[in-house]
Amino acid sequence: MESTRTGICLKDYEAIVGADVLDELRVVADCVRGRRLQNINSTAVGGGVAEILTRMVPLLRELGVEATWDVIKGDGAFFEVTKALHNALHGKPEKFSEQMYQCYRDTTEANLRQMELTDDIVWVHDPQPAGLIARKRDAARWVWRCHIDVSSPMEEAWKFLAPYVEQYDASIFSMPDFAQSLPIAQFMVAPSIDPLSDKNRELDSAYVAQVLERYGVDPERPVLTQISRFDRLKDPLGVMAAYKLVKRRHDCQLLLAGGGAPDDPEGEEVLREVKEAAGSDADIHILELPVFSDLEINALVRGSTIVFQKSIKEGFGLTVCEALWKRKPVIGGAVGGIKLQVIHGVTGFLVHSPEGAAQRASQLLADPGLRVRMGNNGHEHVKQNFLLTRHVKDYLLVALALEHPNEDIVHLC
Ligand code: UDP
Repeated sequence: MESTRTGICLKDYEAIVGADVLDELRVVADCVRGRRLQNINSTAVGGGVAEILTRMVPLLRELGVEATWDVIKGDGAFFEVTKALHNALHGKPEKFSEQMYQCYRDTTEANLRQMELTDDIVWVHDPQPAGLIARKRDAARWVWRCHIDVSSPMEEAWKFLAPYVEQYDASIFSMPDFAQSLPIAQFMVAPSIDPLSDKNRELDSAYVAQVLERYGVDPERPVLTQISRFDRLKDPLGVMAAYKLVKRRHDCQLLLAGGGAPDDPEGEEVLREVKEAAGSDADIHILELPVFSDLEINALVRGSTIVFQKSIKEGFGLTVCEALWKRKPVIGGAVGGIKLQVIHGVTGFLVHSPEGAAQRASQLLADPGLRVRMGNNGHEHVKQNFLLTRHVKDYLLVALALEHPNEDIVHLC
């Protein structure tokens, strides 16, 4: 899997994070220099994991770490199984059968036959490729990086996955709430966004206006937006219900933009439900964006008044950071990693229902000053906590800790 970061180098981050942060990063990276860090996930595009790896792998390489990225292969049946597993690990009841488990094992075997694995560090993302641990050789260190909210999984799903996870040297979860009872080390590392990516970099206002116009969005009236795969756990129907309540009092528009991910087979069905619920309201814009629409998504968020991420379950929700970085107040479901990003009353509002979301959206629409204050707070919060440079440093520190398993303190120089 090749990832590009055309024209950007480490030095470019200095203006945003400061020289000290970069110096520290270089010191840590020097201790991992030359090692191969192999990432493995289940999709090259679509969703937060691919988004992060696209930005992180080139940065690690620039720092002297031989980072690589492989994507497992699977057919429709396999991704049906892993989507059910994903949902069930999030706590949603799903039905499993021995045939489904066998499909997972067979696809894992097929991937193991084709995949070359490093003897240095293997970083396996999420449940889909977790079974690859069967091929772990003694010298290599394997980390299971979990991006989903496994705080209250369906017992059967966790029982299936745990025997794989327990064979890893360590696991990484996005926040302490997700920690599990495991016989291996657990690290807490929050995800991040890249402030210099096309998804997040500054854009000139003429381009933003042009993108809004292209999609028929009126820049003169408020725009309520959610950018997400069409997935029930992202609750697009809840967002629409909130919009319909807000619309009674405020003349506003709703923008639901999403694309699919090859490892998510449910998207089309959810999209159909969303279109049906929208009816003939000309102020509801449902956009199916192709992959690599990063500049357009950036512009759509910049052109929005309020951003929603009304998820019912959420590992982290990069879209929250992406909106906060652009100084947009975010109304988020009070779940999972959204709670790390939306500080209630400071960077946005945490809500538990469409009615709550509507009430907070109305409050924000009526108070432009509040929107500006929250937007500025959100930008600062992301800058302090959720940028790529911090994320890379945390991963390198985990790699280093694994090389010094019995030491409480690792001396870097
Ligand atoms: N995204 C995108 N196009 C879309 C919908 C989402 O590029 O049509 C991006 C979004 O901007 C974010 C990522 O996909 O960078 C989604 O990550 P998140 O953690 O929010 O959710 P996930 O899809 O991984 O559950």
